[in-house]
Amino acid sequence: MKFWTANHKPHESPTRALYGVVMTGWFSRLVVGMTIRMPKWFVGWVSRRYVAGNTIDDAIKVMKRLSKENACFTVDVLGEEITNLEEAQYFIDEYKNLISAIIRHNIDSNLSIKPTAFGLLIDREKGYDNIRNLVEMAAHNDMFVRLDMEDHRVTQATIDVVVDLHSEGLTNVGTVYQGRLFRVLSDIDYLEEKLGPAADYRICKGIYLEPEEIAHTGYSEIVSATNACIDKMLESGSYCAIASHDKPVINHALSALKSYGMGPNIDDPRKNSGKPRAGKGPGYEFQMLLGVRGPLRRKLSKQGHRTRVYIPYGEKWYEYSIRRLQENPTVGVQIAKAFLMPWSNRP
Ligand code: FAD
Repeated sequence: MKFWTANHKPHESPTRALYGVVMTGWFSRLVVGMTIRMPKWFVGWVSRRYVAGNTIDDAIKVMKRLSKENACFTVDVLGEEITNLEEAQYFIDEYKNLISAIIRHNIDSNLSIKPTAFGLLIDREKGYDNIRNLVEMAAHNDMFVRLDMEDHRVTQATIDVVVDLHSEGLTNVGTVYQGRLFRVLSDIDYLEEKLGPAADYRICKGIYLEPEEIAHTGYSEIVSATNACIDKMLESGSYCAIASHDKPVINHALSALKSYGMGPNIDDPRKNSGKPRAGKGPGYEFQMLLGVRGPLRRKLSKQGHRTRVYIPYGEKWYEYSIRRLQENPTVGVQIAKAFLMPWSNRP
């Protein structure tokens, strides 16, 4: 069952849940199918809520506004897999300008990058050099760089880049693990073995609908697997950024944190944890996407948890939006909700 990611909640009856799942898949595909055939302005209208704008100034403006809600940030220059190495230069230049702008405006932000946009799938060595170049510049400015995790073709290559950069002394870098992948628990063991408590994860469910041979495809399994990762990461002493808008994941994380005596305004009490880093929370933080579940994020922030908003911006917003829609048609439900019930799920 690859065409949907189940969206039912555990308290629902199985029949209702099944109906919800089927309807969600069918309805989502319909809305997504319609949206990608719409004129660019309509896709722009849909994306407006999730994309900060075209330029660095647009991203800075959004971050200044959300700083007032006590948020910190990670910024992503939109665009993904390049087809020739020259295209990587756009990302290198843009991220460098972005670092300067973040410093100049004194914004509490780090960076998120897509390894394939730096050429990792075209030429491993050149892609690695491009990424190192940027991570070095970020290190000079005490800034952390997160390597977003893309589809399974680059899972191992992305993990390897992080390990190699650490071995070169660049420890201001970490990656993302996707709870839906079967391999993820052994990947946590692997990074623990290689990096010890310097491992710094973002844990999410995973946006790519991976084949059922390598990944969970049902909602409950994905939630359980993601929660198991959170437990293992916390147990290993690593830094754990919980990237989810889903209450069963957030509530699980909150109770797991409690069991380790971790929480707002408490220094990380775990005996095996790494050194605190500038710009990070006490061993953990919550992360959400721009435009999604603002009320929940503000609630966590009010409780004192460090909350980071993922800010995508860039000229390639159209390609990004279309690709995201095609990749994960369940977003269709969110589009319909934003259109029909604009007051729900406020940014
Ligand atoms: P869901 O069950 O999908 O969502 C819970 C609820 O949140 C929904 O019912 C809805 O109300 C709301 N919601 C969720 N998504 C949206 C949306 N797009 N629009 C409106 N409302 C929405 N995936 C990767 O594969 N690699 C990455 O590097 C990566 N980085 C991420 C970084 C951050 C900060 C976040 C928050 C997510 C990232 N993801 C990444 C995506 C992630 O894997 C999930 O696909 C995504 O977060 C949806 O899962 P969820 O846990 O929020 O739960």
